[in-house]
Parts: sequence; structure tokens; C-alpha cells
Amino acid sequence: MNEKRTEISSLGEFGLIKQLTQQFPINQKSTIKGIGDDAAVIKYSMDKHTVVSTDLLLEGIHFDLMYCPLKHLGYKSVVVNVSDIYAMNAIPRQITVSIGISNRFSVEALEEFYDGVRLACKNYGVDLIGGDTTSSQKGFIISITAIGEVEESKLAYRNTAKEGDLIFVTGDLGASYLGLQILEREKKIFLENPGVEVKLEEDQYLVERQLKPEAQRETIELFHELEITPTAMIDISDGLSSELKHICAQSNVGCHIFEEQIPIFQETYDAALKLHLDPITCAMNGGEDYELLFCMNKTDAQKIYGRHGIKCIGEIKNSSYGLVLESKAGFHHEITAQGWNHIL
Ligand code: ADP
Ligand code: MG
Repeated sequence: MNEKRTEISSLGEFGLIKQLTQQFPINQKSTIKGIGDDAAVIKYSMDKHTVVSTDLLLEGIHFDLMYCPLKHLGYKSVVVNVSDIYAMNAIPRQITVSIGISNRFSVEALEEFYDGVRLACKNYGVDLIGGDTTSSQKGFIISITAIGEVEESKLAYRNTAKEGDLIFVTGDLGASYLGLQILEREKKIFLENPGVEVKLEEDQYLVERQLKPEAQRETIELFHELEITPTAMIDISDGLSSELKHICAQSNVGCHIFEEQIPIFQETYDAALKLHLDPITCAMNGGEDYELLFCMNKTDAQKIYGRHGIKCIGEIKNSSYGLVLESKAGFHHEITAQGWNHIL
């Protein structure tokens, strides 16, 4: 932690905004005017559509500052927003960041948050072009808006999956949920025995998936490079089951998913068993993975088979088929967005 503590009041609102936003360069040619006027100005080319997504994050509801470092929080807040832009098959270009803060936070603490925001802006190639700063009585409040662009023909909605499409997911599912369980467990131990050493090294991968997730930039760039467009797409923020239900309900189709194909890394699998949880249930219902779930016609799908980190997990069926999960033993189960009573 930073030793120095500068009170927000010593800078005032405008001084604080200047301090927090001064080291954000403008890199996108579509950013005409960034921070500093009444509104930012963006100019995308005529043939593109603009994609906008906003998230509101509240302390105590969406994050816990006891175990979430402010830099990670800044990074993650940006990532969850650009992930929504990617899920439309669009390229994020700009973000705005609005914060509600109390005098509990020092200027240094807020700078840590903006360090994370800056790193995410760099990694995902977006410009910070504005925001708002206001006081909050207690908790930390964050609202981020991401703005991106894409050709109309490349937009990937949730409601356009077709019978016969193949269903894919990127990456690894369930790790973020398990990371959260581990952080909650350590918090409890710490609160009961203050001073006890918190050991997280062993579960570093899982904890990192929870605290510092990444959005799937490479996958979207691959689609654009290969000139293929998913027939439907969604990012996995609430768990695979829930996202499959969204796509199927909105597209009026069913699906058949093979348990065997659901991507679960060895670390994730082992950690689930250690915590007496079913790895498949964690992968299906965990959430906050920020991987992509997408559907693709069989011709386009040929081009991405075997691509690193992309896995075919099933096929879109007609609506009367329902949502089916075929277990490793060959049994068929209906996919439901389950709670967490399902403990082995
Ligand atoms: P206004 O009074 O018009 O809301 P502000 O004084 O709040 O303007 O903001 C001045 C400039 O600083 C604007 O460009 C605004 O978008 C930007 N800004 C304010 N707060 C933040 C923040 N927390 N992060 C990034 N930009 C900010
Ligand atoms: Mg303002």
C-alpha cells in the first residue's frame, strides 16, 4: 500500500479530476475531443455502427475492497465493459468512467484505481474520454460506459442463432467462481483470526481469474481477420447455463451440449473437488468468466476448429428440442440456471 495520504479535500473536485485523468493519452483516430469540455466528440466512419454498453458497480454488491486491490478493481471495471462490446463482435474504442467517492478514500487510493483503468485502456486499445466525479456517503460507486464500432453486417446479436449452428466457447469456465470462493474463505478466516497470514499463492490462477479477468480481444480479432461472423454471441458473465438460456430463448431455438466438451482447466477441476463442489456445476453456473459463447454456421466453423482456446461444445436444435446437457455417461439432462445447493 502507498504510505502517503493526500486528502481529496486538499485538491478539490477539479484538482482531483485533473490529477486522476492527466496521464491518459488519446490514441484512437475516432476520438476527436476527449476530457476537458462539456462532452466528448467521437467520429466513426460512415459505414460503421456504434455500439454502447454501460455497467454500474457498487461496493458491497459487486466488489469487496477487503480483498480486491483498487488497481485490480479499475482494471476489471474496464474489462467487463469492453467484454460487452466484444460480445457484439465490435471493437471497443472509447470509455467513460464515473465515480462516487467518500473521504474514506485518499487521492493515492484513487490513483491506484486509475492505474488499473490506464492499464486496461492500454491493453484493450481504448481512450478514456470523460466521466463524472461525485461524492458518495459511504461506499465506492463506479459506472463505466464503453463505446465501440463495427460494420453492420458483422454485428452479432443474441437472437439470431439458427438450428444446425455449432456452439463454441473460448477459454476456461468456472475458475473465477472458485477464485471468489477462495477469497471469501480467506476473508472469513482473517476476520475470525486477525493477524493470521493469508495464503493465496497456491490458488493464484483462480484468484487472478476473479480479480483480474481478461476480455476476449484475440477471438474477435480472429473473426474479423478471417471475415467470419458468429450467428449469435454473448459474453459469459452469469455462467454458461444462463447465457445458453438467453441465446436459446431470444433466438427461439434449443441446444444440445456435451458435458465432455465443456472446457475446465486442471487447476479449476482440482480446486472444485477440494472445495467439495462439482466442477461441471461450477463451469455451468459460476459466472464472471468473461469468456465468449457463440454460434456459427458449419461452413464458417470449419475455419476456427483447433484454434487456440476455442472449443465446440454442442449444436443448436429446434425450439421443441429444449436445452439438453448430455453427461459423460450419455444421460440427457435439462439445462437449468441452478443455484448452489448442488454440492457433491
Ligand atoms: P461537468 O460539470 O460538465 O459535468 P466536470 O467538471 O464534471 O464537467 O468534468 C470535466 C471534464 O472531466 C469532462 O470532460 C468530464 O468528462 C471529465 N471527467 C470528470 N470526472 C471524470 C472522471 N472521474 N474520470 C474521467 N473523466 C472525468
Ligand atoms: Mg461532472
